[in-house]
Amino acid sequence: MMQIMRATHLGMCFGVRDAVSLALEHADAGPLTILGDLVHNPTVLEALHAKGIAVAQDVTTVATPTVMVTAHGTSERALARTRALGLTIVEATCPLVRVAHRAVTSLAREGYHVVIVGRRDHVEVRGLTGDLDDFDVVLDDEDVLALEEHPRFGVAAQTTQSLEKVRHVVALIRRRFPQSEVRFVDTVCKPTKERQSAAIEMARQADVVIVVGGRSSNNTRELVNTCAKYCARVHHVQNEAELDPEWFLDAEVVGLTAGTSTPDEVIDRVEARIRQQ
Ligand code: SF4
Repeated sequence: MMQIMRATHLGMCFGVRDAVSLALEHADAGPLTILGDLVHNPTVLEALHAKGIAVAQDVTTVATPTVMVTAHGTSERALARTRALGLTIVEATCPLVRVAHRAVTSLAREGYHVVIVGRRDHVEVRGLTGDLDDFDVVLDDEDVLALEEHPRFGVAAQTTQSLEKVRHVVALIRRRFPQSEVRFVDTVCKPTKERQSAAIEMARQADVVIVVGGRSSNNTRELVNTCAKYCARVHHVQNEAELDPEWFLDAEVVGLTAGTSTPDEVIDRVEARIRQQ
């Protein structure tokens, strides 16, 4: 009999949950456009679409008087540009993204050269760096090798990065620039940390691990990478339809975790389908 083990922390974080409710509330009050993907999850996006909420990737194409900034946040410069177009802004920025913004602002104010550990093209990282004129974004060892020397580095992280990876990058920067002062502010958010450590705990005991989440969700990908260090059979699915029965051959314990933008119903449906294998 196959046993299913859910990670003790998984799925949607309070930041995304609150942003989705805020969008639904505002949609009841009047037409709303969300700037970018509120969450990187197709199921949630469909629910918003069903409510008549529009999504625009560029502020110049917004056709409603009100726009919503997603939980990922944005820069002051981008907010000013949006206001200049005469749009009303609803901010669904997660409080923990705001913590990261404040960390970056004070590092820059104190004269540190800001380095963000994260994905250069991710909306949160663009928001974190959007008010800076000079900064770097690094993700792997090669990026660190390409850095130029600065007397003082101020390092912060995209909130959904794995803390293990971030610490590795910080250590590398310290080793590469022994003459420089390197200050690190840990801005990885608590829900991400909890999901990462619960995933490790679960993956250690599982024969097969299923990670549920949007294909382009950063924290889901991080969960996949983390689990792969502890379990050889890790699969990433967006929903139950993507499960392949062959994955479960001879598996006694199947571990289950999900990224922070994955709704509970999707996790439940995946679990139910695994039980049928
Ligand atoms: S992943 Fe963390 S920072 Fe991002 S919305 Fe969720 S709680 Fe907030």
